[in-house]
Amino acid sequence: MKPSIYGLTRDELIDWAEEHGEKKFRATQIWDWLYRKRVQTFEEMTNLSKDFIAVLNDSFCLNPLKQRIVQEASDGTVKYLFELPDGMLIETVLMRQHYGLSVCVTTQVGCNIGCTFCASGLIKKQRDLTSGEIVAQIMLVQKYFDERQQDERVSHVVVMGIGEPFDNYTNVLKFLRTINDDNGLAIGARHITVSTSGLAHKIRDFANEGVQVNLAVSLHAPNNELRSSIMRINRSFPLEKLFDAIHYYIETTNRRVTFEYIMLNEVNDGLEQAQELADLLKDIKKLSYVNLIPYNPVTEHDQYSRSPKERVLAFYDRLKKNGVNCVIRQEHGTDIDAACGQLRSNTMKKDRQQAIAEAAD
Ligand code: SAH
Ligand code: SF4
Repeated sequence: MKPSIYGLTRDELIDWAEEHGEKKFRATQIWDWLYRKRVQTFEEMTNLSKDFIAVLNDSFCLNPLKQRIVQEASDGTVKYLFELPDGMLIETVLMRQHYGLSVCVTTQVGCNIGCTFCASGLIKKQRDLTSGEIVAQIMLVQKYFDERQQDERVSHVVVMGIGEPFDNYTNVLKFLRTINDDNGLAIGARHITVSTSGLAHKIRDFANEGVQVNLAVSLHAPNNELRSSIMRINRSFPLEKLFDAIHYYIETTNRRVTFEYIMLNEVNDGLEQAQELADLLKDIKKLSYVNLIPYNPVTEHDQYSRSPKERVLAFYDRLKKNGVNCVIRQEHGTDIDAACGQLRSNTMKKDRQQAIAEAAD
């Protein structure tokens, strides 16, 4: 299988063109065809010679993903199930926000972090996605709108789909540079958010990259004992190490950090935990936000349920009283398989059931 041309950053494409005897501006033209005009074949790049198009066809494929399922929810959320060249399945979600179209991308097939509340962690990591496969998700979502002649552009990206982005660091960074490139999709860095379960050493690396992309950290508990019991990763990177890295990030980049906190009924949503969380954040109150996230029930994780509204509001009030910036996150696409990893895992279950039924016939 040939690699996807979406996997090359603009600088890499320039190097590649020069290595193939072409001038730099040829690479600029290709970039423009890919990301501004968004052609689907190399043949449509009409200002390139036939010979050069043949070289492109010999070297690359364009979009490596096949669309398997598209589900549109009543609130405009669209969920896509894509097939990778090796037959594996990933999912991508498009959310309509008041500020524009926001896409949630997947970075790995499965996830090794194994958080106890997450559908993606049920399947061990099969492999990392290439940067081309991550860019391709954005391109296919944009194509969906281009084809409907809806003059809408993907304006925001969240790296919050299946996988731990900092466990696929190099490819995720290439992806970020590609979609942020001014001459291409030009998705503003401040409109992009990467979410991590807390790989402290990678948070430090990310601080040193000089990108203006937003960082979100999945916290979900205010002390080590509770966090380790719901997120195994906390045993390798306990809160002390995590917060050292977060302080380093804030000092280096001068940027705020978002904390994600899923509200799990009677697990992490008491007033005592709200106070502990406020205390944990007291030094960085002005430089952080807390997002309180409704739990999306996952059948296999039935030890958890969603916090009732009164508990969420009481938690929120306690944070606010302590001066913590805090919002309660809106849900999207509740009438389709909304939680991270759910469309994929439910489709795989259906595939399995079908295979079992076929075997029984
Ligand atoms: N691996 C990264 C990014 C992908 S998960 C991370 O963990 O941050 C993106 C977000 O979805 C995380 O905050 C994660 O905790 C949250 N999430 C996972 N399963 C969920 C569920 N069942 N309900 C609500 N949020 C969930
Ligand atoms: Fe992996 Fe994130 Fe799910 Fe944890 S929450 S298992 S890190 S995808």
